[in-house]
Amino acid sequence: MEELVKPVVAGNWKMYKTISEARELTAEIVSQAAGLSGASLILIPPFTAIQEVKKTTGDSRVRVGGQDLFWEEEGAFTGEISPCQLREAGCDFVLVGHSERRQIFGETDEMVRKKVLAALRHDLIPIVCLGENLEERKNGQTLNKIKNQLENSLFGLPEEEFKRVILAYEPIWAIGTGQNATPEQAEEVHGYIRQLIADRYGKSLSACAIILYGGSVKPANAFSLIKEKDVDGFLVGGASLNAGSFLGIVREASRPNEG
Ligand code: PEP
Repeated sequence: MEELVKPVVAGNWKMYKTISEARELTAEIVSQAAGLSGASLILIPPFTAIQEVKKTTGDSRVRVGGQDLFWEEEGAFTGEISPCQLREAGCDFVLVGHSERRQIFGETDEMVRKKVLAALRHDLIPIVCLGENLEERKNGQTLNKIKNQLENSLFGLPEEEFKRVILAYEPIWAIGTGQNATPEQAEEVHGYIRQLIADRYGKSLSACAIILYGGSVKPANAFSLIKEKDVDGFLVGGASLNAGSFLGIVREASRPNEG
């Protein structure tokens, strides 16, 4: 796979889009993205549409990811999907530990750790989501929560493996609410994550790490967020369900910062 160019913009379609709708959206994104060479685009459709989305991306630079995986290769795990199945369907990436998985389906840091290892074993790049809820933010526990999540699920990885992981800071209170983190709030956490990576793995790895922001990103707020020094791109939910708003975000994220 080609090197990822920053900004990286990933669209998480959640439990939206049938196969035919996914094909249509992908075709629109691919045709409109043709001129946008200064960014990396990743589409993350529901499992049923992965193969069709992959086929529709053709030889474009648009890549494909899964929304979750299980840590075993195969077996009696009804309803789960394995890293091998995701690879064969056309994925190069996989989301791990999205807050909806953690909150609704009880995913723990330990499960996230096992999923990350399984993804890496099968050459899938994990996009690992971290973030605090509203109560934790109000109680001043944000940084502590992030540190615990990183230590429990990722910092046991050797350097060679950690290097391949993408991080996504997604404050839970900002997801699907229309209330994004301010650029200052996002930068405080992104800078902290980068510092923790530097402490654990050294400065050069930390400088190259990809840290996405997610939570109510839209074309109107993308530029103010990407201007922050430690924001390397976005994980987008709602606004990724429409080619115009998704590519609007990509354009804003790729706009030169003249300030
Ligand atoms: C998400 O689900 O990861 C997300 C960031 O959603 P939204 O953009 O809709 O807030």
